Amino acid sequence: MSREDPGARGPAGAGRGDARPAGADPDASPRVVREPEAAREAARALRGARGRLGLVPTMGSLHDGHLSLIERARAACDAVAVSVFVNPTQFGPGEDYDAYPRDLDRDVELAGERGVDLVFAPTPEAMYPAEPSLRVEPGRLGERLCGLSRPGHFSGVLTVVLKLFHILEPDVAVFGRKDFQQSVLVRRMTEELNLPIEVVAAPIVRAADGLALSSRNAYLSEEERERALSLSGGLRLARERFAAGERDAEALADRVRGTMESAGVEVEYVEIVEPGTLEPLARAAPDAVCAVAARVGSTRLIDNATLGGASSLDGIRGA
Ligand code: AMP
Repeated sequence: MSREDPGARGPAGAGRGDARPAGADPDASPRVVREPEAAREAARALRGARGRLGLVPTMGSLHDGHLSLIERARAACDAVAVSVFVNPTQFGPGEDYDAYPRDLDRDVELAGERGVDLVFAPTPEAMYPAEPSLRVEPGRLGERLCGLSRPGHFSGVLTVVLKLFHILEPDVAVFGRKDFQQSVLVRRMTEELNLPIEVVAAPIVRAADGLALSSRNAYLSEEERERALSLSGGLRLARERFAAGERDAEALADRVRGTMESAGVEVEYVEIVEPGTLEPLARAAPDAVCAVAARVGSTRLIDNATLGGASSLDGIRGA
């Protein structure tokens, strides 16, 4: 990686504040920093020179979902940092930590095209120089939904997010609603720990056929990808049934589960929950979230949608 922490960047701030990407200098590459202390200095310098700093935490392998978060951060802030870190402490034994797709050069290029100022891409050793002796525990909220099959996952997520917040000191942090439980937990952490950071949860970006974009979609064969459409298809059906007047959460969840099972995916959960507490609901309300997780072959996928109101599923047709 040739652009590592050079201390310099492309033409300073060219085109920032325009409606990007049109206003961006296509040659401007973000500064890439690998060490936490250097990242803190770079982030402080950006805040000093520009103003509000937005952070988009990612595990890299950037796709249009991540890029939409970057756009959102750009719209809300004067400078944008993206972190690229496949965080080992949020992967359980037997999960895909080693296989997780990594391509930092491409990520930096895409980030540059979107006007990102700073890419923080630490090594695991830089983030965890010693065996961690303490972690943020999410409590009950972290034990539901994905927390059931991934014990310790959200503790790993919150701990690394808190570290990123302390290292980069952003004013705004943008997360995707794709990882709905994660966005709820991060917001809760910032509130309970009095962090001076505004947490934004941005809409899910989907492929034209409805599949929620995910770095893990790269694992899917063509045939598996077809089956994976049953997640968004099931959610669409739930929204349709809700719009038609169905309020019984179990009945709605059953329809979603049925759609997924008939496509031959292995359902992990289908739940209709209250969006703030993630508690299961007996009666569905417009702001209730239907959250699903399933295995398609060996790939674990998640998706979710609110039952009422506007949705990223609007306008998507399918089987
Ligand atoms: P990841 O790299 O998968 O850890 O994701 C980094 C951030 O991007 C998280 O806040 C995710 O919720 C968000 N994200 C991932 N996929 C999407 C998507 N399809 N639409 C919107 N946000 C997404």
